[in-house]
Amino acid sequence: MISMDRTVAVRECAEYGFNEVYSCVAEIYRSCRGPSLSGKRVLIKPNILSDDSPSKCISTHPVVVEAMIRFAQAEGASAVAVGDSPAVHLRGFKPVKSGIYEVCRKTGAEWTDFTKKPSELTLRNGRIKIASAVKRADIIISLPKLKNHELVYFTGAIKNTLGLVPAFSKARQHALHQDRESFSRFLVELNEALMPSFFLLDGIMGMEGRGPGQGDPVRTGFLAGSSNPLALDIIAGSLIGYDHIDLPVCRFALSRGIWLASADEIEYDGPELEALVKSDFKKIPVRGNTNISLGFIKNRIPFLRKLDKRPVFLNEKCTGCGQCISICPTSAISLDPVRQNHVTLTDRECIRCFCCSEVCPSNAIQVRRKLIGA
Ligand code: SF4
Ligand code: SF4
Repeated sequence: MISMDRTVAVRECAEYGFNEVYSCVAEIYRSCRGPSLSGKRVLIKPNILSDDSPSKCISTHPVVVEAMIRFAQAEGASAVAVGDSPAVHLRGFKPVKSGIYEVCRKTGAEWTDFTKKPSELTLRNGRIKIASAVKRADIIISLPKLKNHELVYFTGAIKNTLGLVPAFSKARQHALHQDRESFSRFLVELNEALMPSFFLLDGIMGMEGRGPGQGDPVRTGFLAGSSNPLALDIIAGSLIGYDHIDLPVCRFALSRGIWLASADEIEYDGPELEALVKSDFKKIPVRGNTNISLGFIKNRIPFLRKLDKRPVFLNEKCTGCGQCISICPTSAISLDPVRQNHVTLTDRECIRCFCCSEVCPSNAIQVRRKLIGA
């Protein structure tokens, strides 16, 4: 087992006022003994699933990004860059609507385009493209957003690292790792090969319901940080009511013993946890521990597949923008050749990764069971 810090620091923070956020960021970083930033080239990686208004809680709030940038500058970082790969990642992407591009401009941090000349990284099982900015950075700081996730239930620190993989290489991982368990394993293995040095989670406002892209904003009232992504995910998940044993990413990471052997090893610094728990947070219902063979069987028995949750397209809301088609790793969606603003799903090609639902800007894709015969 790799020996690493096990501290998680949590601070209550009710609003996105810069001064309050900044002082929480500084306290959390120091409490967790974050690495020295003096003279270092720092890459800050927020969660920008899609470029949208901060009020929708899809992305890390720009004030949290600004606080982290200014903290790194105050600590003597020689350069600060900011970047992420959104779900639909086109060359030249800039997070304007989310306010993060403006934060870069006013702080002097560089917005970096992850599609430019990506490098390669060796994982346990194969190789993967990563942003070249990763190679240029001495220290990576990850800023996950507290949200539900239809596939892995909860998206926090371990999941946020996936955004270092640019453009279609990211969506392709859903085709390679087709069910909850194998996708979770991949996420853990990605972090084993490429782990940011520090994680600061924006949990001031979280997303409940149909996360990570279509859920509802909800005040959760905290910021949390750690150098240990598993410890942070266990604590942050518990604050919105998830038992870490139900979270496949945490379960798999614990079974590997790479960052923690047990949740009991976490050293906690912050207010009493019970008082912070948002017990009415609308979670994704946990559905047993799907294993690979069950997913394999379901893919081959049409009746069982029909009982599964699937993407259901609401054509009355569809604008025909094509974003779901671009992101789908198996080309299971196409524009209807006859009806305008209709898309059609080739169900046998669908691997239920729900990337389409994440990116639809019109809320036109629900993830639910379809009535038999519907
Ligand atoms: S249709 Fe949607 S859920 Fe199915 S494979 Fe494509 S992106 Fe994934
Ligand atoms: S379903 Fe959503 S993402 Fe797909 S084409 Fe329609 S509006 Fe665009």
